[in-house]
Amino acid sequence: MREFDYIIIGGGCAGLSLAYELDLHKKLKNKKLAIIDPRKNYKRDKTWSYWNVINHNFDDCVKKSWSTFLVSDTARNVNRSHCVSYPYQSIDSEKFYQKILGRLKKNKNIFFKKKLNKSKYKGSIIFNSVPSIKKFNKDKTNYWQHFYGIEIELKRKRLAKSDTFHLMNFDCEQRDAVHFIYTLPFKNNRILIETTWFSKYDKKLFDYQKQINQWLWDWMRLKKTDYKIKYKEQGAIPLFPIYQKNKKNFINIGTAGGMTRVSTGYTFLNIQEHSKYIRMNIENINEAKRFQIKKKYYFFDKIFMRVLDKSPKIMPKLFFNFFGIFSNTNSIIRFLSNKSNLLDDIIVIFKMPKWVFIKSLFN
Ligand SMILES: Cc1cc2nc3c(=O)[nH]c(=O)nc-3n(C[C@H](O)[C@H](O)[C@H](O)COP(=O)(O)OP(=O)(O)OC[C@H]3O[C@@H](n4cnc5c(N)ncnc54)[C@H](O)[C@@H]3O)c2cc1C
Repeated sequence: MREFDYIIIGGGCAGLSLAYELDLHKKLKNKKLAIIDPRKNYKRDKTWSYWNVINHNFDDCVKKSWSTFLVSDTARNVNRSHCVSYPYQSIDSEKFYQKILGRLKKNKNIFFKKKLNKSKYKGSIIFNSVPSIKKFNKDKTNYWQHFYGIEIELKRKRLAKSDTFHLMNFDCEQRDAVHFIYTLPFKNNRILIETTWFSKYDKKLFDYQKQINQWLWDWMRLKKTDYKIKYKEQGAIPLFPIYQKNKKNFINIGTAGGMTRVSTGYTFLNIQEHSKYIRMNIENINEAKRFQIKKKYYFFDKIFMRVLDKSPKIMPKLFFNFFGIFSNTNSIIRFLSNKSNLLDDIIVIFKMPKWVFIKSLFN
């Protein structure tokens, strides 16, 4: 006899989002669920940001919302865009974990385990959120979005405004990859600064702290003694499709389930949509179609990644023009968030340097 009806391997963003969705919609009433995760604690370890294009369960975990953002090129020209219809939001992972765990721990049918003997998996439906990253790490031709960020509290100086965030600031060292600084001002004395690279695995690009120090000086005239570091985060998001096959009673979720958009690394909202899809089909999950990001985005992203590989140097200008003054920001946001219609796709295609993209199409 099976011990658990459902087993979730990995209680991170995808595993907990799914468990929360199942519990919220009373799908665990007469079912037992085990969540397996070896982690020791649930402190803040990530800041999940996204353009709010869908409804989800975690509005109350939003730390800050912005409706204006900037993109700067290497020569310090700045483009300002507004995103009132789809505000950009950041979720503090600690709030998210606390909200979910606070609810799930009250349900006697949910069991938290650090590990579980494989023999206990028999007959259960397994949702796996642990990617076989080792396999992907071996391939040095893969691109990653890798980054390091610090959230600082200013001792004296104050930001003039905290209602505008910098999505991409290319006024930093470029080398032979794509590099930008991403900043999220949470208050007028608190700001998250992340140095972000789109590159293949290259240890020479790991001088993250130096890049941040340089930017803090160049853009804010801040020395180390002018602020306190309150939080640090580091990560690497795959910029290549992760396709781990689902099997009978074994469904991949989260990054392992291909929920990362290849050209942007955005994953959080895709995870929320996938959780909802599983909850709606839980009674017949083995028969349900695999939930995937729409195929057209794989096609667009594949071409984009080819251009990035062949011509990294054009990227700062490309992104700068993408969000230029005559841009239809809503169309671009819908495109980046997998919600574009045909007209949005056409608008985005017309914003791209056509010749470089056509060449890449036939390469
Ligand atoms: C620092 C960081 C910032 C990010 N920011 C954004 C963002 O702003 N917007 C966005 O859309 N996406 C972002 N992402 C991408 C993506 O949303 C996150 O990686 C998200 O956490 C993916 O969810 P997941 O459940 O697949 O993986 P995770 O949240 O990493 O969960 C995996 C879980 O598996 C556990 N685990 C590991 N090994 C085992 C094992 N052998 N057995 C059982 N459990 C195991 C881990 O402890 C972890 O809790 C970010 C990623 C990182 C790393």
